[in-house]
Amino acid sequence: MDKEKMSKLMNMDMSLSKNAVDFIDDKYLHSLIENTKEDMVRNREIFKKALGKQPLSVEETASLLAITSKEGLEELYEAARSLKRAVYGNRIVLFAPLYVGNYCINNCKYCGFKSSAKGTIRKTLGKDELIKEIYNLEDEGHKRLILVFGEAPQYSPEFIADCVRTCYATKKGNGEIRRVNINAAPLDVAGYKIVKEAGIGTFQVFQETYHKETYAKYHPANTVKGDYMWRLNAMDRAFEAGIDDMGIGALFGLYDWRFEVLGLVSHALHLQKSHGVGPHTISFPRIQPAQDLDMDLPYRVTDEQFKQLVAILRLAVPYTGLIMTARESKEIRDDVIEFGVSQIDAGTKLEIGGYQKDKNKEQELNKEQFQIGDTRELDEVIRWLLEREFIPSFCTSCYRVGRTGEHFMEFAIPGFIKRFCTPNAMLTLAEYLEDYSSPETKEAGYRLIQKELDQMSESGQKQQVIAKLEAIKKSQRDLLF
Ligand code: SAM
Ligand code: SF4
Repeated sequence: MDKEKMSKLMNMDMSLSKNAVDFIDDKYLHSLIENTKEDMVRNREIFKKALGKQPLSVEETASLLAITSKEGLEELYEAARSLKRAVYGNRIVLFAPLYVGNYCINNCKYCGFKSSAKGTIRKTLGKDELIKEIYNLEDEGHKRLILVFGEAPQYSPEFIADCVRTCYATKKGNGEIRRVNINAAPLDVAGYKIVKEAGIGTFQVFQETYHKETYAKYHPANTVKGDYMWRLNAMDRAFEAGIDDMGIGALFGLYDWRFEVLGLVSHALHLQKSHGVGPHTISFPRIQPAQDLDMDLPYRVTDEQFKQLVAILRLAVPYTGLIMTARESKEIRDDVIEFGVSQIDAGTKLEIGGYQKDKNKEQELNKEQFQIGDTRELDEVIRWLLEREFIPSFCTSCYRVGRTGEHFMEFAIPGFIKRFCTPNAMLTLAEYLEDYSSPETKEAGYRLIQKELDQMSESGQKQQVIAKLEAIKKSQRDLLF
């Protein structure tokens, strides 16, 4: 299919946006990987720079990627841990993905939704089904969703916008969705404007692989997704449309993980330079088993490499939130979370209609995109975070009061986390404990809230937090700083 036909099929203008640039220099990135040797004297300077709150260049990132010695890696992990502790505090934001539809015209070799996967049962949630899913998620205690779509003409910007509005409008008891993010195929400028109008949070598009040859191998040229540049410039078009809250990502396992890290950092630097704002989040999913996928992949990322890449991203892009999904097992999440992950999903179901309580187990298997590693329910995940002294947070405050660029503020404005983030995390946790938690989680939750209060200096702010916590116990909701 040529570009004109694809544009027609998807009803969008696929001629590149006026600012289209290829900011991935494959040759240069390869030469950095091949020619950079481990140099801990230089790396200590780089750690200092990152801890001094400065983003790293591609060359500096390559220097951290060259670390292979055990001692060097320990120093890297310690630097990432300190940055996380000193700058971001101990909150972890929780969300749930909601798969709306798995029709797809593309044929990405790694994905269970690819058009050639004949065993996949195709389904799009009808409005009533969508509402049921939202009720079920609200009943668990979720406040933040990410809606996920395949790429198909029926998932038009208007359709996506309508789903977003349905999420915000669907309320049950104290349950409500306060932030809706999107993971869908890239749109044209007009399309982004339509979804922005509906009040989306972050719009995520993963490049999958930044390596052009590998990209062509996994995404057939005669599909919409086969157009590397259309995807690479997805975020630039979003900016053109006025969306400044974007999520980028790479699917780790398709090509050399070090190349993908350099690709992600190049992308973040490009957005910062061209639009004055970096990405809101970076995701780094590792490829999981899916229908018709041969997992004997030459570039599968080991657990050690995964740990290293998360620590490096934390240091390289300090203004950006890092998302670790339930594709990873509980054990890996346990190990990696302290290196600067700021958001995780919990209680995740990937099948279309997966949050229904009375679903048919056999059908379920054929509607999911891939298998997940962490199958714990939300309450269990929250208890685990509390045991590790992370404050689970459902905060949506910055986005709702118009404080955009929140990661930048967290990082750059002294006292921002103390003033806003930690109190809001405590308040949204208290709402969860009152409305949805098991008795054990409630006890553990209030214990941690008390510990956090004890650590706050005596001030008007502390009194305000205590007053708001009391009001929550007396059933007031949605109190925020
Ligand atoms: N269809 C849209 C697209 O491709 O951008 C968005 C939804 S797609 C369902 C979301 C993401 O799932 C993809 O960007 C890809 O990174 C990830 N994914 C696909 N297959 C996967 C697999 N086997 N294991 C892990 N992640 C996978
Ligand atoms: Fe379709 Fe997205 Fe899956 Fe590719 S990754 S087959 S575009 S749903």
